[in-house]
Amino acid sequence: ILTATNICKSFDGTKVLNGISIEVTKGQVLAIIGPSGSGKSTLLRCVTQLETVDSGEITICGERLVKNGADGKAVYSDKAACSKIGLHIGLVFQNFNLFPHLSVMQNITEAPIRVLHRSKAEAEAAATELLKKMDLADKADAYPCQLSGGQQQRVSIARALAMNPDILFFDEPTSALDPELTGEILKVIRELAAEHMTMVVVTHEMKFARDVADYVVFMDNGTIIEQGNPEQLFGNTQNDRTKAFLSRFN
Ligand code: ATP
Ligand code: MG
Repeated sequence: ILTATNICKSFDGTKVLNGISIEVTKGQVLAIIGPSGSGKSTLLRCVTQLETVDSGEITICGERLVKNGADGKAVYSDKAACSKIGLHIGLVFQNFNLFPHLSVMQNITEAPIRVLHRSKAEAEAAATELLKKMDLADKADAYPCQLSGGQQQRVSIARALAMNPDILFFDEPTSALDPELTGEILKVIRELAAEHMTMVVVTHEMKFARDVADYVVFMDNGTIIEQGNPEQLFGNTQNDRTKAFLSRFN
């Protein structure tokens, strides 16, 4: 469902992604782990079109977003194709990124109404279902500032799901939350995994990655140092850098 091959990205001459390749099949959960500054967010931002790549190829849901030109530089598909690909994906950030001036209901229905041209009634019915699922049925009329961090994050997950994405990306969805609120978000992601939602999750929660991910990638310094299924990566770690990184979580 997602293939990214040999992604390179520099900022001001500094290589932040140095030939990263990842693949996610339908229904799979990919966890990306690695130290701060290793390029995890940049990789997600490149795949979700918040950032452009310098070179490399990305295909999402059978549609090519970018390929290498004859000179080895990235050539993006036309604008219509890129926006179409954007409709296949959902993104949940570390800091929730809700619209502060919109109610919970408006936050969730805004994109389905404006982008997918759903009727207000239809969008609100779907949002009500999602709020129930997120255990927030009574918060439809609340504003983001009236909610806890964990509740805000569940609203942003509902907002992403309202677009019916084929693949959902999370960038450290719990790192702005207190430990007791972290659990409620991880539970929601576990439930989505049980429903076979395809997901890419950047996380510092190693136990969660081990339990939920089908495949784990360890990044350091813009490259993938080690990858494999959780049993391999956590239980039979090969690389010394991976070992050193994981030892911090014990
Ligand atoms: P963290 O775990 O702290 O979130 P990360 O693995 O997500 O780290 P990135 O945010 O991808 O790391 O950053 C990788 C490197 O790229 C860092 O050195 C960062 O300073 C740099 N970087 C990221 N975005 C930009 C930008 N827009 N302009 C310049 N440098 C950037
Ligand atoms: Mg990051």
